[in-house]
Amino acid sequence: MRPTLVWFRLDLRLTDNPALSAAVRRGGPVIPVYIWAPEEEGAWPPGAASRWWLHHSLAALDAGLREYGSRLILRRGPSLDTLRDLMNETGADAVYWNRRYEPALIARDKIIKAALPSESFNSALLFEPWEFKPYRVFTPFWKACLAKGVPATVQPRARPPAPARWPASVKLESLELLPRLDWAKGFDWKPGEAGAQKLLRRFNARRYTTDRDRPDLAGTSRLSPHLHFGEISPRQIWNALTKNADQSGWGYLRQLGWREFAHHLLYHFPHTAEEPLRPQFSRFPWSKTNTGWREWTRGKTGFPLVDAGMRELWTTGWMHNRVRMVVASFLVKDLLIPWQEGARWFWDTLVDADLANNTLGWQWTAGCGADAAPYFRIFNPISQAEKFDPHGDYIRRWVKTPVAPILDHTAARDRALRAFDQLKSTP
Ligand SMILES: Cc1cc2nc3c(=O)[nH]c(=O)nc-3n(C[C@H](O)[C@H](O)[C@H](O)COP(=O)(O)OP(=O)(O)OC[C@H]3O[C@@H](n4cnc5c(N)ncnc54)[C@H](O)[C@@H]3O)c2cc1C
Repeated sequence: MRPTLVWFRLDLRLTDNPALSAAVRRGGPVIPVYIWAPEEEGAWPPGAASRWWLHHSLAALDAGLREYGSRLILRRGPSLDTLRDLMNETGADAVYWNRRYEPALIARDKIIKAALPSESFNSALLFEPWEFKPYRVFTPFWKACLAKGVPATVQPRARPPAPARWPASVKLESLELLPRLDWAKGFDWKPGEAGAQKLLRRFNARRYTTDRDRPDLAGTSRLSPHLHFGEISPRQIWNALTKNADQSGWGYLRQLGWREFAHHLLYHFPHTAEEPLRPQFSRFPWSKTNTGWREWTRGKTGFPLVDAGMRELWTTGWMHNRVRMVVASFLVKDLLIPWQEGARWFWDTLVDADLANNTLGWQWTAGCGADAAPYFRIFNPISQAEKFDPHGDYIRRWVKTPVAPILDHTAARDRALRAFDQLKSTP
């Protein structure tokens, strides 16, 4: 039997990996490969924090494969030429992969599918976006998902059989994924499947119900980068949490529903990574000067919750969801800086940067997306801090020396509402 190439992408795991399991079931040797081809990701090649994560995740995947006498072959793109070369070099007669949903990658994969004998699988989502008509509101979407029933089978860990001879691989270091300046030294993460499983075991669904909105308490799962890189599947999480007899997992599973919704939206409205879903927002009178951008990125706005969030992001590559909403609202509404600029900053600095989730998060906060917060709901960074960081522990952790506020929130709020009124009155 001829070898099968398994082309790893955002599915960097051995358990519950449909493409890998199918290749093993097919019989014959399996050649796992990862191709670094950022230029194929259109306007959204992985940012600096994502590249840091990817470096360590590829190392972890290779180590996992080596436990079974296999290994990860690394190459540089273009992907189609590289896969063709590998088929010629190894005699492989098929390529298996798990699907991605970013518009540029759907287009690329279509071309590869037409050119090579291949099969693709769903590893990242509970449902394929095309299984439902396009929804713009979360609750009916999630109801339709639950009515369909979540396919909860999890495939066992695959042990891919090695070929007689391995094709050449480039060295991981040669991909130059790590930052030159060691800005990532404060990243306290363990990329890879084992790190994801550890967080899942540690996760307390009951505490999530009470603490999930509190950035001062470690109440959320922190699984987002692991989910983005496919080191754990939503099916695995679903299975683990629906076993809790007390139903405490459902609040958390609903968040996985938001992740599904984000992918559903990006698939059905592929322009939304750059353009507002509600077209009238493309006429919004944004600030022409970007005043406050520098202070926002550096955590020096003088609003302690905003500054704490932006410093947490810079230092750890992650930020609590509640604080993401507050800093995003501050950028878009207090500073009137386009949400796309903020999305780009997050894209470069978040270890969980995900085109679907990031687009939804920014459009939601800006008020121009699906199921969005109404534009006039403007987060007050002071009262949000009082409510969700009641003892100031989160702020003290990140802001040692407060600076003077760069603006007056009440005046900025009025300015934002006037800008919004202008939008309503233009035809
Ligand atoms: C402006 C903004 C930008 C965001 N950018 C991203 C991003 O680039 N990548 C990303 O994964 N999430 C993003 N989010 C969503 C959310 O903030 C993170 O998923 C969450 O904070 C990750 O922490 P956690 O794993 O502890 O979450 P938990 O609360 O433990 O949630 C579990 C999982 O559900 C999913 N999830 C939770 N909330 C959301 C949500 N609102 N939308 C979509 N999926 C969700 C995530 O995969 C998360 O890992 C963004 C939110 C906002 C407001």
